[in-house]
Amino acid sequence: MNITVGIPTLGNPLIENQGKYTLLKNMLIGKDFHWQRSIEALLPGEVEIGKDEVFRVINRLSIEDYLKCVVGSEMNPEAPSEFLKAHAVISRSWAMGKVLNIHDHSEYGKTNLTNKIINWEDTCDHHGFDVCSDDHCQRYQGIQPIPGSVLDALKATEGEVLISPAGKLVDARFSKCCGGKTEVFSSCWQPREEECLESFDDPWCNLDTLDPNKKIRVLKSILKDYDLENEGGYRWEATVTASEIKKNLLDKFNRDIGDITGIEILYRGLSGRSKNLLVKGTQGELEIGKELMIRRLLAPTHLYSSWFDIDQVSSDTWHLQGRGWGHGVGLCQIGAARMALEGYSYKDILSFYYPGARIGNK
Ligand SMILES: [Zn+2]
Ligand SMILES: [Zn+2]
Repeated sequence: MNITVGIPTLGNPLIENQGKYTLLKNMLIGKDFHWQRSIEALLPGEVEIGKDEVFRVINRLSIEDYLKCVVGSEMNPEAPSEFLKAHAVISRSWAMGKVLNIHDHSEYGKTNLTNKIINWEDTCDHHGFDVCSDDHCQRYQGIQPIPGSVLDALKATEGEVLISPAGKLVDARFSKCCGGKTEVFSSCWQPREEECLESFDDPWCNLDTLDPNKKIRVLKSILKDYDLENEGGYRWEATVTASEIKKNLLDKFNRDIGDITGIEILYRGLSGRSKNLLVKGTQGELEIGKELMIRRLLAPTHLYSSWFDIDQVSSDTWHLQGRGWGHGVGLCQIGAARMALEGYSYKDILSFYYPGARIGNK
């Protein structure tokens, strides 16, 4: 199966044929972010100039070659091999879902009223190609030196994807750390449930029972060095003030309800993550959801997760005691890495985090 990747360029595409590969001399990466720049990339497969005004180059290549490029750049090569295999199956399922266009990305359930904002973000469908090369989909920068451990994991699982009991490709979501309980689809995205994405207790991401060396090994296999100090986000604390919430409400959501007097969780998902939060102000109230919007509202960039308890410590300051890092739906990376280090196979890991799913070939 082939996948088509839309690639933005800096100016008109500069392309040079190099036999087996095509050299793209001005691939644009980090579009609209402060690190935006152009790089040279060696592209496998076929390359042509497309009709899209932004994604000027269309690269058609096999799914396996595509996975080598993206899994190679996203995964820590030192991660345990069974974890890498589990991730290879998930990434393949994701990529095939894109090619076959099987997942619903409708806006159904979103609300944008004066006193209520319900919103979420998801990789939307592109037109004229399956995925883009930027972080919006998965980071693709052509062929680069690929760690042997990643190549081995891809080869060992070649063609394998996750199939639901109804025979559908599983929408294989994952996040950094579920915090001890996984969440369901509807708490984060459209108001419906997806097969094999369930809420259940996860004992594996609690690393407190491990000896310190083993704990560091689990964390290092998932996180880059600068993330290590937060211990994977299993438990965290944060403080937020009324003026920060007021500023975020204005800057990120374009709403002004006066000075903030209170925050209250209205609904929680099955794991305990907040789905809808009520913000009270001197000039009105605003209900806000889902989890990603709440995380954005209560921190300069994002809170680790929307699973927290609120303690009001003064008239304008709230202390949050939180659990987990990310949306918590599907595979928990910290828990999966721990399982792999304790000797479980990638099949064990996948059947634990995607109950009812089987491994098949599509
Ligand atoms: Zn995209
Ligand atoms: Zn977990």
